[in-house]
Amino acid sequence: MPGLRGISSQISDPSSAAPDSKLIDDLVYANRILADQGVFDAFGHVSVRHDKNLNRFLLSRNLAPALVTARDILTHDLDGDPLDAGDRKPYLERFIHAAVYRARADVKAVVHSHSPSLIPFGVTGIPLRPVYHMSAFLGGGTSLFEIRHEAGMTDMLIRDHKLADALAKSLGEDAVVLMRGHGATVVGNSIPQVVYRAIYTEMNARLQAQAAALGTITFLSVEEATKAAAVNDGQVLRPWELWKARIGKID
Ligand SMILES: [Zn+2]
Repeated sequence: MPGLRGISSQISDPSSAAPDSKLIDDLVYANRILADQGVFDAFGHVSVRHDKNLNRFLLSRNLAPALVTARDILTHDLDGDPLDAGDRKPYLERFIHAAVYRARADVKAVVHSHSPSLIPFGVTGIPLRPVYHMSAFLGGGTSLFEIRHEAGMTDMLIRDHKLADALAKSLGEDAVVLMRGHGATVVGNSIPQVVYRAIYTEMNARLQAQAAALGTITFLSVEEATKAAAVNDGQVLRPWELWKARIGKID
Protein backbone atom coordinates (compact mmCIF):
# COMPACT_ATOMS: atom_id res chain seq x y z
CA MET A 1 0.00 0.00 0.00
CA PRO A 2 2.49 2.72 -1.08
CA GLY A 3 -0.24 5.37 -1.06
CA LEU A 4 -0.96 4.87 2.64
CA ARG A 5 2.73 4.75 3.51
CA GLY A 6 3.14 8.07 1.73
CA ILE A 7 0.37 9.61 3.80
CA SER A 8 1.66 8.26 7.12
CA SER A 9 5.22 9.43 6.45
CA GLN A 10 3.86 12.91 5.71
CA ILE A 11 2.00 12.91 9.00
CA SER A 12 4.98 11.69 11.02
CA ASP A 13 7.37 14.16 9.36
CA PRO A 14 5.74 17.58 9.42
CA SER A 15 8.94 19.20 8.12
CA SER A 16 8.12 17.81 4.66
CA ALA A 17 4.63 19.34 4.52
CA ALA A 18 4.26 22.12 1.96
CA PRO A 19 2.94 25.49 3.18
CA ASP A 20 -0.60 26.52 2.30
CA SER A 21 -0.60 28.12 -1.16
CA LYS A 22 -2.70 31.01 0.21
CA LEU A 23 0.07 31.79 2.71
CA ILE A 24 2.55 32.01 -0.16
CA ASP A 25 0.17 34.25 -2.14
CA ASP A 26 -0.24 36.51 0.90
CA LEU A 27 3.54 36.73 1.26
CA VAL A 28 3.89 37.72 -2.40
CA TYR A 29 1.20 40.37 -1.88
CA ALA A 30 2.99 41.62 1.26
CA ASN A 31 6.20 42.11 -0.75
CA ARG A 32 4.38 44.02 -3.50
CA ILE A 33 2.24 46.09 -1.09
CA LEU A 34 5.17 47.24 1.04
CA ALA A 35 6.99 48.34 -2.12
CA ASP A 36 3.82 50.05 -3.42
CA GLN A 37 3.33 51.88 -0.09
CA GLY A 38 6.93 53.18 0.09
CA VAL A 39 8.10 51.05 3.01
CA PHE A 40 10.40 49.03 0.70
CA ASP A 41 12.45 50.23 -2.25
CA ALA A 42 14.79 47.77 -3.96
CA PHE A 43 15.65 46.58 -0.44
CA GLY A 44 13.77 45.26 2.56
CA HIS A 45 12.13 41.88 3.14
CA VAL A 46 9.07 40.28 4.71
CA SER A 47 8.71 36.72 6.00
CA VAL A 48 6.02 34.50 7.50
CA ARG A 49 6.29 31.54 9.83
CA HIS A 50 5.45 28.23 8.07
CA ASP A 51 1.85 27.23 8.83
CA LYS A 52 2.66 23.52 9.22
CA ASN A 53 6.10 23.68 10.83
CA LEU A 54 6.80 26.36 13.45
CA ASN A 55 10.54 25.80 13.02
CA ARG A 56 10.49 27.03 9.45
CA PHE A 57 9.74 30.37 7.84
CA LEU A 58 9.11 31.54 4.29
CA LEU A 59 11.12 34.38 2.74
CA SER A 60 11.87 35.36 -0.86
CA ARG A 61 15.21 34.74 -2.52
CA ASN A 62 17.46 37.80 -2.83
CA LEU A 63 15.27 40.01 -5.01
CA ALA A 64 13.67 43.48 -5.06
CA PRO A 65 10.32 42.99 -3.25
CA ALA A 66 8.22 44.49 -6.09
CA LEU A 67 9.45 41.65 -8.35
CA VAL A 68 8.74 38.72 -5.99
CA THR A 69 6.54 35.88 -7.28
CA ALA A 70 5.42 32.62 -5.65
CA ARG A 71 8.31 30.83 -7.39
CA ASP A 72 10.83 33.01 -5.50
CA ILE A 73 9.67 32.02 -2.00
CA LEU A 74 12.18 29.81 -0.15
CA THR A 75 11.69 27.79 3.04
CA HIS A 76 14.27 28.63 5.72
CA ASP A 77 15.03 26.87 9.01
CA LEU A 78 15.43 28.76 12.29
CA ASP A 79 19.19 29.03 11.68
CA GLY A 80 18.26 31.17 8.68
CA ASP A 81 19.46 28.53 6.22
CA PRO A 82 17.34 28.15 3.08
CA LEU A 83 16.38 24.49 2.50
CA ASP A 84 15.27 24.61 -1.12
CA ALA A 85 17.34 27.42 -2.64
CA GLY A 86 19.34 25.40 -5.17
CA ASP A 87 21.53 27.99 -6.87
CA ARG A 88 19.29 30.88 -5.79
CA LYS A 89 20.85 33.46 -3.47
CA PRO A 90 19.18 34.13 -0.09
CA TYR A 91 18.99 37.56 1.55
CA LEU A 92 22.09 38.61 3.49
CA GLU A 93 20.03 39.73 6.50
CA ARG A 94 17.81 36.62 6.74
CA PHE A 95 19.29 36.11 10.25
CA ILE A 96 17.00 38.89 11.51
CA HIS A 97 13.93 36.79 10.74
CA ALA A 98 15.41 33.58 12.18
CA ALA A 99 16.38 35.28 15.45
CA VAL A 100 12.96 36.88 15.95
CA TYR A 101 11.12 33.59 15.30
CA ARG A 102 13.44 31.84 17.77
CA ALA A 103 12.89 34.51 20.43
CA ARG A 104 9.16 35.16 20.02
CA ALA A 105 6.68 32.26 19.75
CA ASP A 106 3.85 34.79 19.27
CA VAL A 107 5.40 36.25 16.10
CA LYS A 108 4.09 34.88 12.81
CA ALA A 109 5.40 37.52 10.42
CA VAL A 110 8.42 39.87 10.26
CA VAL A 111 9.23 42.94 8.15
CA HIS A 112 12.73 44.39 7.93
CA SER A 113 12.91 47.69 6.06
CA HIS A 114 14.89 50.86 5.52
CA SER A 115 11.60 52.80 5.68
CA PRO A 116 12.87 56.37 5.06
CA SER A 117 10.90 58.43 7.60
CA LEU A 118 12.14 56.22 10.45
CA ILE A 119 15.81 57.01 9.85
CA PRO A 120 15.84 60.45 11.55
CA PHE A 121 14.42 58.86 14.73
CA GLY A 122 17.05 56.13 14.84
CA VAL A 123 19.95 58.54 14.38
CA THR A 124 18.74 61.01 17.01
CA GLY A 125 17.64 58.37 19.50
CA ILE A 126 14.13 59.85 19.68
CA PRO A 127 11.63 57.01 20.09
CA LEU A 128 8.60 56.70 17.85
CA ARG A 129 5.45 57.07 19.93
CA PRO A 130 1.83 56.89 18.78
CA VAL A 131 0.64 60.32 17.62
CA TYR A 132 -2.74 58.87 16.59
CA HIS A 133 -4.88 55.80 17.09
CA MET A 134 -3.82 54.15 13.83
CA SER A 135 -0.30 53.54 15.17
CA ALA A 136 -1.40 52.56 18.68
CA PHE A 137 0.68 49.36 18.42
CA LEU A 138 3.73 51.58 19.12
CA GLY A 139 2.53 51.54 22.74
CA GLY A 140 4.94 53.28 25.10
CA GLY A 141 7.52 53.92 22.34
CA THR A 142 10.12 52.09 20.27
CA SER A 143 13.44 50.79 21.51
CA LEU A 144 16.64 51.37 19.55
CA PHE A 145 19.22 48.85 18.38
CA GLU A 146 22.75 50.31 18.42
CA ILE A 147 24.96 47.96 16.43
CA ARG A 148 28.16 49.64 17.74
CA HIS A 149 27.40 48.38 21.24
CA GLU A 150 27.43 44.82 19.92
CA ALA A 151 30.18 44.77 17.35
CA GLY A 152 31.99 48.13 17.09
CA MET A 153 32.50 49.45 13.59
CA THR A 154 30.61 47.26 11.10
CA ASP A 155 29.07 47.64 7.64
CA MET A 156 25.74 48.09 9.56
CA LEU A 157 24.18 44.85 8.26
CA ILE A 158 22.83 42.01 10.42
CA ARG A 159 25.03 39.33 8.91
CA ASP A 160 25.13 36.68 11.64
CA HIS A 161 23.35 35.12 14.62
CA LYS A 162 25.20 37.20 17.19
CA LEU A 163 23.97 40.49 15.76
CA ALA A 164 20.50 39.11 15.03
CA ASP A 165 20.09 37.78 18.59
CA ALA A 166 21.14 41.18 19.97
CA LEU A 167 18.57 42.85 17.71
CA ALA A 168 15.83 40.45 18.88
CA LYS A 169 16.80 41.28 22.47
CA SER A 170 16.41 45.03 21.75
CA LEU A 171 12.98 44.31 20.24
CA GLY A 172 11.92 42.57 23.44
CA GLU A 173 8.14 42.14 23.52
CA ASP A 174 7.51 45.21 21.32
CA ALA A 175 6.08 45.47 17.79
CA VAL A 176 8.88 47.65 16.39
CA VAL A 177 12.59 48.16 16.99
CA LEU A 178 14.48 51.01 15.32
CA MET A 179 17.99 50.30 14.02
CA ARG A 180 20.35 53.30 14.15
CA GLY A 181 21.58 54.36 10.69
CA HIS A 182 19.80 51.43 9.05
CA GLY A 183 16.00 51.10 9.41
CA ALA A 184 13.65 49.02 11.54
CA THR A 185 12.27 45.56 12.20
CA VAL A 186 8.52 45.15 12.70
CA VAL A 187 6.71 42.02 13.91
CA GLY A 188 3.11 40.79 13.95
CA ASN A 189 0.84 37.83 14.48
CA SER A 190 -0.12 37.58 10.77
CA ILE A 191 0.91 38.93 7.37
CA PRO A 192 -1.93 41.52 7.23
CA GLN A 193 -1.05 42.73 10.75
CA VAL A 194 2.69 43.09 10.11
CA VAL A 195 2.03 44.89 6.81
CA TYR A 196 -0.39 47.24 8.59
CA ARG A 197 2.18 47.91 11.30
CA ALA A 198 5.05 48.53 8.86
CA ILE A 199 2.95 51.00 6.84
CA TYR A 200 1.61 52.86 9.88
CA THR A 201 5.07 52.98 11.51
CA GLU A 202 6.27 54.90 8.45
CA MET A 203 3.17 57.16 8.58
CA ASN A 204 3.57 57.79 12.31
CA ALA A 205 7.19 58.82 11.78
CA ARG A 206 6.17 61.41 9.19
CA LEU A 207 3.39 62.78 11.40
CA GLN A 208 5.51 62.77 14.56
CA ALA A 209 8.24 64.79 12.79
CA GLN A 210 5.64 67.29 11.51
CA ALA A 211 4.03 67.62 14.94
CA ALA A 212 7.41 68.04 16.67
CA ALA A 213 8.15 70.98 14.36
CA LEU A 214 4.90 72.64 15.48
CA GLY A 215 5.20 72.22 19.21
CA THR A 216 4.84 69.90 22.17
CA ILE A 217 3.15 66.62 21.25
CA THR A 218 0.42 64.95 23.30
CA PHE A 219 0.99 61.28 22.45
CA LEU A 220 -1.51 58.50 23.11
CA SER A 221 -1.00 57.29 26.67
CA VAL A 222 -0.15 53.62 27.16
CA GLU A 223 -3.75 53.02 28.24
CA GLU A 224 -5.17 54.76 25.16
CA ALA A 225 -2.70 52.89 22.96
CA THR A 226 -3.68 49.52 24.44
CA LYS A 227 -7.39 50.20 23.88
CA ALA A 228 -6.94 51.56 20.33
CA ALA A 229 -4.59 48.74 19.29
CA ALA A 230 -7.19 46.16 20.29
CA VAL A 231 -9.76 47.84 18.01
CA ASN A 232 -7.31 48.09 15.09
CA ASP A 233 -6.39 44.41 15.37
CA GLY A 234 -9.98 43.58 14.47
CA GLN A 235 -9.82 45.86 11.41
CA VAL A 236 -6.56 44.91 9.67
CA LEU A 237 -8.30 43.05 6.85
CA ARG A 238 -10.00 46.24 5.62
CA PRO A 239 -6.80 48.05 4.56
CA TRP A 240 -5.24 44.69 3.58
CA GLU A 241 -7.97 44.09 0.97
CA LEU A 242 -7.57 47.67 -0.32
CA TRP A 243 -3.78 47.37 -0.59
CA LYS A 244 -4.16 44.00 -2.36
CA ALA A 245 -6.65 45.48 -4.82
CA ARG A 246 -4.11 48.18 -5.72
CA ILE A 247 -1.64 45.44 -6.69
CA GLY A 248 -4.18 43.43 -8.72
CA LYS A 249 -3.58 39.88 -9.83
CA ILE A 250 -0.25 38.29 -8.95
CA ASP A 251 1.60 35.52 -10.79
ZN1 LIG B 1 18.70 46.08 6.27
